[in-house]
Amino acid sequence: VLPLLLEPEWLVDERGHALDGPVRIESGRIVAIGTHAERAGAVVIPLPGRIVCPGFVNAHSHAFQRGIRGVVENKHESHAHDDFWTWRTRMYALATALSADEMRAVARAAYLEMLRAGYTSVGEFHYIHRASTDGDTCAAVAAAARDTGIRLTLLETGYARAGPGKTALPAQRRFVFDGVERFLEHAMATATAVAVDDQVRVGLAIHSVRACPLDWIETIAARARSLAWPLHVHASEQQGELAVAMAEHGRSPIAILDDAGALTPLATVVHATHVSAFDVERLARAGATVCLCPTTERNLGDGICPTRDFVDAGIPLAIGSDSQTRIDPLLELAAVEEDERLRLMARSVLVEPGASLAHALMPMGTLAGARALASDVGRLAVGAPADLVSLALPALIDVSSRADALDAILVAGTRADVHDVFIAGVPVVLHQRCVTLDAARIERDAHDALRAARARELETRAGH
Ligand SMILES: [Zn+2]
Repeated sequence: VLPLLLEPEWLVDERGHALDGPVRIESGRIVAIGTHAERAGAVVIPLPGRIVCPGFVNAHSHAFQRGIRGVVENKHESHAHDDFWTWRTRMYALATALSADEMRAVARAAYLEMLRAGYTSVGEFHYIHRASTDGDTCAAVAAAARDTGIRLTLLETGYARAGPGKTALPAQRRFVFDGVERFLEHAMATATAVAVDDQVRVGLAIHSVRACPLDWIETIAARARSLAWPLHVHASEQQGELAVAMAEHGRSPIAILDDAGALTPLATVVHATHVSAFDVERLARAGATVCLCPTTERNLGDGICPTRDFVDAGIPLAIGSDSQTRIDPLLELAAVEEDERLRLMARSVLVEPGASLAHALMPMGTLAGARALASDVGRLAVGAPADLVSLALPALIDVSSRADALDAILVAGTRADVHDVFIAGVPVVLHQRCVTLDAARIERDAHDALRAARARELETRAGH
């Protein structure tokens, strides 16, 4: 593979600071930046009108949920009140119907969409371990990532029950194992099978304190600590979940996780929407990351989390596309700041005095996500993996002020502004065209897979 030299207008690092290009890439890594980056022997890729930054990290994804976008927005006569729990029923219908091959096709389309939107890494919070017919959906998701080239951290997720004292619902049977040791055996076997190189890595997850009893939480947390693997957990997304935790444990989900040894610097708590000051203190003391998924949290009506309190406590904040309602790192990042503005009724609420919006948001989209996945991506630095994206410079602004131009992208940009995507120095998208992938075919396959799964879903429903 020949070295590459990218020549954008300028560069932006993971902390939202502008620096001069170009950037030279060899053997998948950044080897020189600025005047040190020589043209000799390199394929030069001019990127006029664009800037280059680290690829975005999607720290929380359920790829298959891409299949329910748009089909869960109609309100049924039977439930005038539509919320997270009614949405979940619809989501389970698809989760139950998909075969392993269909799961792969849908995940492949979701990952393709992520790549085109500027996400170069994804943390897949995977809890559907078995397919409807046969086959292993964990292997299917890993294969989907390999099909597209996106970097994957497959988070093998423990799921034990419908709730305290309640065995799994029929729709949850594909998620559960008969005991935590059986689950961990499955996770280790999956790791051996799929995590054979840098592109696919593994970690562990606890679905939630609702879905896992205390011995599962403690055992999974201990295994994650001993392996030094990332450990993710959904917590405090819904108020209903708080009531259940209080009734079972007399404590909040965050307190349960902390007392069980699950909160460490390698831990990521997803959502943390309904948290107390004491919860925030525990998260900060443990050094855990919080992953916010604001476009999903809005769509599901979860609530608004106290983001400024997390920042004040020094908690790293990552982002995730979660339900795939939107797959767009720029929209996700702007939502983090703007939702907090709505809550606090003020402007620039996450921006420190003397700084700009990009300084607040870029680390969330890059560094913190990489930390959540225990990966060394998410940096624009010599020696870092060359996972890079280019963004179009905005119109109607004096681009000689690089800080203003960057803030214009962060406040109003979308995936439509992402032009080029490189993973490990390989151009995957150039000038908004897929170079390595047949996008039309991937989308057609996913469409066919979803149609087949829905037909099976209707058949099953008619049969009951
Ligand atoms: Zn989730």
